[in-house]
Amino acid sequence: MASIYANAYLTIAATASADFDGGCFRERSPTVKVEVTDIAGQISCLYARERLGHAAFDFGISGALQAARRNAWRAESQIDDYPLFGRGWCFQERLLSPRVLHYTSEEIVWECLGMTSCECGTMDRFVGSAVLRERRNAAGVPLDIEVRCGKLERSQALVKRLGMLERFESLSNFRGKLPAVLSDDYAFMSAIEGKPLEMETTDVQMRERWRDLVSQYSHRHLTYATDTLPALSGLAKSWQARSPGLGQYLAGLWEHDLLRGLLWQCVDRGETARPGDYLAPSWSWASLRGAVDWLPFHYEPIYHVTIMAVATQPSGRNAFGEVTSGHVKLRGLVVIATMKTYDLRENTAEMQAHRDCYLEGTEMGQRFFIDSTEEYAALLGQELHCLWCSTDVNDLRTMIGFERGLVLRRCDNTSNTFRRVGVMANFRIAERDAAEVTEMELIII
Ligand SMILES: [Zn+2]
Repeated sequence: MASIYANAYLTIAATASADFDGGCFRERSPTVKVEVTDIAGQISCLYARERLGHAAFDFGISGALQAARRNAWRAESQIDDYPLFGRGWCFQERLLSPRVLHYTSEEIVWECLGMTSCECGTMDRFVGSAVLRERRNAAGVPLDIEVRCGKLERSQALVKRLGMLERFESLSNFRGKLPAVLSDDYAFMSAIEGKPLEMETTDVQMRERWRDLVSQYSHRHLTYATDTLPALSGLAKSWQARSPGLGQYLAGLWEHDLLRGLLWQCVDRGETARPGDYLAPSWSWASLRGAVDWLPFHYEPIYHVTIMAVATQPSGRNAFGEVTSGHVKLRGLVVIATMKTYDLRENTAEMQAHRDCYLEGTEMGQRFFIDSTEEYAALLGQELHCLWCSTDVNDLRTMIGFERGLVLRRCDNTSNTFRRVGVMANFRIAERDAAEVTEMELIII
């Protein structure tokens, strides 16, 4: 299916339809007509309609959700306006199509490799949108200089117009006060810092962009959980062709981004589960049903684990599709702890929904994020292995920062084979006695 969309001349999308019967055409909201009389006594008519929101268009559902969280737009209701953006298979179909004509409930929207445009004109300004960037990447069209420069110019104009820098005494202070939508914007921050825009895309950027794509994709709904990897396989294949530096594709992660890639976390607390059908090895985000993102880092993290081996077994000929097995062998420092809860409402459904999980060794509880809330009851009181993975240095003078780690459960008493059950955002391994910490080689399946 991926090649059909990639080779289509035009893809017509019934973006406002919830199902096959929904069709393309909708009754639009009526416009408002106001008669006005000017000073010369001439009667004129003004026509108006409700302003349309477009946040959902930039990156579908999670884009709209993020916008809603920031209260930047009236975005929450927008998700319901574009049911197509909630469907898993449609994610790569949209990004692989060179041209898409969207029929929404209020207007027609055009997307091609050069622009995004809509009837009300708002989307004509989406020049540097993440969707346009990823669609160009999938098609092998570089993000051209005009697009980047156009965005830089607009960002510079915005900075100047708002007189933003004068209102804050320092750049770091300024960064902290920016809405996330702007501080995440590369062109905007380049404009503020007076830096030229890099024209070359680095491997580091491509790794970050893949993680972002997966995070966006994971918010979408798939009827069959076993489609998790297949419905993304066309994009993965085009990514490897564009960026061979990513290495081998491993059940939704890339070989040369594996240390960072392993540190994903669930976003929808209480709504993630590992289904009965095998989807992927437990160290892959694709083993779960539910939305994921990656633990944030201030700088490029320092890693404390060594990858000894990694492999996945595709179920068919497609190296980017379903997998039947996979393992990663890591060497690193491990602390053994027991999963506890300090909540007085012992083992209630509400508590499980909040993944209120702690690990207790000799030190009082360290919180961690469980992957599948369905596993909560089975893990309570169990011995778990915590593998120290990385340090996110947030103070360059002291080199102190957040320690990240994987929480693993041994598959049986005799082997060194484990399954991932969660992730720790702050491990605090430095405070531990050396006697508590063991160097181990572990195989995670
Ligand atoms: Zn519009």
